[in-house]
Order: sequence, then structure tokens, then C-alpha cells
Amino acid sequence: MSVETLISQIQDYNPDAEMGLLERCYHFAQKAHEGQFRKSGEPYFTHCVKTAEELAALRLDTHTICAGLLHDVLEDTGVTREEMDVRFGWNITNMVEGVTKIGKYKFRGGQRQRQAETYRKLLLATAEDMRVILIKLADRMHNMETLQFLTDEKCQRIAKETLEIYAPIAHRLGIWRIMSRLEDLAFKHLFPTEYREIAELLDEKLVERQAYCQKMVARIREELEGQDIFADVRGRTKHIYSIYQKMQQKGTPFKDICDLVGLRILVKTDKDCYLALGALHHRWHYLPDRLRDWIGQPRKNGYMSLHTTIVDNGKPVEIQIRSYEMHKIAEDGIAAHWSYKEGAPNCKQGHSIFANYKQMLEDIQDTQEGAHQFVASMKLQLVEDEVYVFSPKGDLFALPTGSTAIDFAYKIHTDIGNTCCSAEINGAAAPLRQELQNGDRVHIRTHPNCKPSRGWLRYVKTSNACNKIKHWFREKERADAIKLGKKFLRAELRLTTLNASDYLNPTKLLDIAKQLQLQNVEELLVRIGRGYESATHVVNLLKPDTPEPQAVPPKTAPMPGIELENGIDLGMIRIMKCCNPIPGDEVIGYVTRGRGVSVHRSGCARILDVPERILTVKWPEKQNRNRPGIHPAQICVQCNDRPGMLGEITTVIAQCNVNIRSGTFQPAEVTRANNDAQDILTLDVTGTTQLTEVMQALRHLKDVQRVTRKF
Ligand code: MN
Repeated sequence: MSVETLISQIQDYNPDAEMGLLERCYHFAQKAHEGQFRKSGEPYFTHCVKTAEELAALRLDTHTICAGLLHDVLEDTGVTREEMDVRFGWNITNMVEGVTKIGKYKFRGGQRQRQAETYRKLLLATAEDMRVILIKLADRMHNMETLQFLTDEKCQRIAKETLEIYAPIAHRLGIWRIMSRLEDLAFKHLFPTEYREIAELLDEKLVERQAYCQKMVARIREELEGQDIFADVRGRTKHIYSIYQKMQQKGTPFKDICDLVGLRILVKTDKDCYLALGALHHRWHYLPDRLRDWIGQPRKNGYMSLHTTIVDNGKPVEIQIRSYEMHKIAEDGIAAHWSYKEGAPNCKQGHSIFANYKQMLEDIQDTQEGAHQFVASMKLQLVEDEVYVFSPKGDLFALPTGSTAIDFAYKIHTDIGNTCCSAEINGAAAPLRQELQNGDRVHIRTHPNCKPSRGWLRYVKTSNACNKIKHWFREKERADAIKLGKKFLRAELRLTTLNASDYLNPTKLLDIAKQLQLQNVEELLVRIGRGYESATHVVNLLKPDTPEPQAVPPKTAPMPGIELENGIDLGMIRIMKCCNPIPGDEVIGYVTRGRGVSVHRSGCARILDVPERILTVKWPEKQNRNRPGIHPAQICVQCNDRPGMLGEITTVIAQCNVNIRSGTFQPAEVTRANNDAQDILTLDVTGTTQLTEVMQALRHLKDVQRVTRKF
């Protein structure tokens, strides 16, 4: 590109530009780099012109473009700062020096800590004059475009640095067109296979997609014109890296993303944006949770638009609606607010993006923690599906939006998750299920006696936490089964003349396990504990030379619908019908012969006095409020046998929201007791609390003499 072409590009938007200065810089840089070549074989100076061109495309001020032309002169030629200062002034020289300085921070990847440090230094260096970073971005654009000429190692390093540092900065400054290109180029070098895959699939579907796109454009245009809204409707391409990110983060299959048609509607005014949105929503269905109003609340990087997803024939169509002004901002970010005359932001929004950026830099203290905070805030909003939180030590963790303290605990370490008992968020006590917000400082307290709860599964967002909680329960269930299996065996042996300790040794049990084609003793105990193998059968096998009785394998134990505690959480607990225990009752467990544990109300006559068969059990402390178990309880109502009595009784019960499962009603003739009738009712209750309520209510009825619970 000749100096004339560059000048005419600038004159298009800035007729008053200092063209003389520009020409001098051009020729000076050209001369300084003379004889130098890029790895591509081109003269080095091409790179300088490309950088300047990129800056001119952003419509920046003349000084910035001059600095763009000169940006590698201090680093790569013999020209000194003083010389440059004399020739072109301190303004341009300072910028060139800034760019040179940044170039010295080599990003090596690896730990977040080091990454954070690089970020910090890099941006501090640009705090004085943010045009430095714009030049650096333009410089990086061309370097990325010619990356294939470098050695593999260098290529990887630069691509990584671009993806981790420069693309996020471009995003932060709202310069979408630089960001998207940087990302795609870096992605192409870092993940060539994935890049090619997506690019090819996109190509394959291109014709089909374009045809549909054109059809939609026409229909929307027609719809808007019908409403007197003058709009420019266009198809819009997604950049490849954003498709890849979506696939990674949401697990969305490629097909769904690529089939997705994206359109953009450009209108004149803010008001037209909303009118167009209204017109679309009037004509098509839309997905309410996909609607975003970035006009009412612009993003921190200045981005404004309305986003909606309409559904056409079952096909989602993503639409962005914005004014031409907003479009410029969306593409160029802070550069759209730049005064090419003053070399500074020229309006309120520009100042606010700039202020936001500077504030961020000022927030950085010279501490490690500061650096972490900084990376977090840089990345904030970049990926809106993630929240960034800190450990008390200041380590940064990224979690999906909606994650809770429990997710965080599991993210740190499985043991922390499994033993966490409470959380402290930003110094204040908080429930473990609390959703985390960006920047939260989360401290998890643990206690060796604490253990996961099944209820957590409702509050975790990450599959990591979910899997680990489920795994914990599986392991616990297994350990319980082993414990119970031992207990069953021991109880069974007590009924024989055999000495338990002689027979319950691993060698003997291993024999049995092998006989039953099980891997090891643990497997055997698990099967007994779960009720798949009867203890009686096993003990019979242990007995020397006894003819083997036909063992009846127990049926799969019925689920009681509630869990009983004492460390046992198995499906092999049966609630006995003889005494119908309900939550709130004092209960005991009885180890049956090969049929698991029966639960009786304490005092039930059916429990035999065999201490080694008794298990302490209790109802879970908290009932599942959403799905309380329903348990049958029998009551006996003695009352005056008068007309309407039974109706009153059933009404009272219904008022307590309790169902009558069955009942027998014995009139006075049958009971032969004065004029007393006796009704025996089986009620479906959630527990003793509810049962007591019903019984109290019945006692208040006129002519009711006695209300008792049947044992
Ligand atoms: Mn350069």
C-alpha cells in the first residue's frame, strides 16, 4: 500500500488530518526498516503499513496512525527515542515506546497467576494512553494473519497469548471486529482439527442456510415495511470460535448451532429498535428467556442492541436489532467513540468505557490478589455463562452461572465437598445452597462429621459436584450393605451352635463367595446386606457337612418411601403392618432372617427379645417437604350413636386434609355398650403431628367420647 492510498483512506473520515506528518512518518519507517524482511519474505515495512491501515479502519486520529507506522522502529532499528522525539514529537514517541514495552512481556501461558501478572503489567503500561493498546491490537492482527510463517513453537505461543490476552482486551473495549478475527485466527492455530471440522461443516450447509436466510430476510423486511419501519435486514455470520465455545460450554451439538440462522436488523433510531422488536413479536412467537435488552442496559464495553430469538416453523432464528450508531459501536467499540481530532474519547459513552477500563487498572493493587481480581474482571462478561469467585487465599475459580457454594466446595476438592457444613460468602455466613455472584469471596467450612445430603442434588449446577455427591451415596450405601451383611450373618450364626468368630473369618467367607461366583468377601456381604442373598443360606453353606436346604432367595425388598437413619439407607427396610409406625413414632428395627430389616413401633408385641437382632433406627430429621410420605394409621373413635355422627366425623377429617383409606363402623347394637358406636378408621397421614391434629379435632366434636390410636 502506498502512502497515497493510506492518506485517502484517512481523508475519507478526517479531511483535516495532518497529512504532512503522516507522510514523514511513512517514509521514515520505510527507510528505518529497509533491508529487513518478514518471515513471509515480504519487506518488513508491509507489516507497519498493515498496522496503520487497521488503525485507519477504526477511524483513529493521525498521531495514532503515525505511531502505528513507527511502532517497530525503536525495537528493531537503530533509531533512538530521542531522535524520534525530535522528529515527530513526544506524543507519537510515547505511544511507540508503550508498544515496545508491551512487546517485552512475553506470555508463557501456564498458571493463572502468571497470566494475571502479564495482564496487569501489560495494561498498566497502557493506562497512560490507551491508544497504545489499540496499536498493539492492530499490530497483533497482522501478526496473526501471517502466523503460518513462524516456527511451530512460536506460532503456538503467540496464538495462545492472543486468545488469552489480546482477544479479551479487544472484547473489553468492545472492538468486536478485531476480537472475532483474533479469536478465529488463534483458534485455527491452536486447534487446527476442530477449526477445520467446524469450517467444513459450515461450508457444507452454506447453500441451504443462505437460501433460508434470504427467505427470512425478505419476510421480515416485508413485515417491517408493513408497519412503516424502515430497516436494513441482513444475514449475519458467526465466527468459528464462538461456535466452538458454544459447543464446549453448553454441550450444544454442532448441528443445532450451525442450523441456527442469525439475522441483523439495522434501523435509524433507538425507538425504531423497539418498534421493530414489537413487529417481530407480533408476527412470530419468540423465546422469552432469550430476549435481551442491551439498549436499556448497555454492556460495560458499551455494546447496545436488542436480542431476540423468534421461532419460524419450529426453527429458531436469532435476531439482533440495533441502530446504525449502535452498530458502529458494536463493531468498533471504544474506537467508535474516538475523536480523530483530539485522539481521545469524544462523548459520554466513550468516556465511560474509557473510565471503566481505567478504573479497572486503578483497582489493581500491587498484590497477587489484585492480579487475580483483575483477571476476573477482565474476563467478566466475556463469557456470560460463568461466574468468577475467589477462595479466601485469593485463588480464582470459574463456575457456570447459577453455581452454589456446594459446587465451589467440590471444585476445590472432593473431600471439601463431602465434609462441608457451612459457607461464608464475602465474610458473612451463607447457606451452602446460595448462588454465587461474580467476585464473591467464598470460604467453605468443613467438619469431619458432616456429610452430603441428597437435597444438595437440587442445588448443584456442575456435573462435577452432582457426580461426586451421587458417588458418595453409592459408596455409603455399599458400606452400609457390608455392615448390615455382617450383622445379618452374625445374627444368623447365633441361632446355630456354631461359634461366630470361627466361621466369620475371611478364608471361610471367601470360599462361600467363590461358590456363589462372587469376586470377594465384600461382594458377598454387599449381597447379603442388600437382601439379594439370604444370610440363612450362607450360614448353611458354612456349616460343616449339613445337607444344603433349598434356599429361598428373598424378593427385592419393598421401598418404604422414606428413609430410616442410623447410617442405613437401603431399600430393604420394611415398615410393618402389625403396628403401622408413622413418622414421629418411636421405632426400632428388627433384623429378620434373610429379609432385611423390619421396622416396628417400639413396644410392638411382634418384636422378639433378641438383642443382637435389634437395630436402632429413627426417622429422618427432615421430611421431604415437597413429597411427604403418606402412612396409614389406625384410630378408633367411640361416640354417641346418633344420626349424622358419621358424617361429622368424616367432615372433620377431611377438613384436616386427611384421606380416609378405609373404615369399619360398628353401631351401638354391635358394640352393646350403652349407646356407643365404635368406628375404626385407617387414615393416610404424613406423621404423628398430623395424626394428633386429627385426633384433637375429633375430640372437640359433640358426642365423641374417646379417640384412641390403635396399636
Ligand atoms: Mn509489529
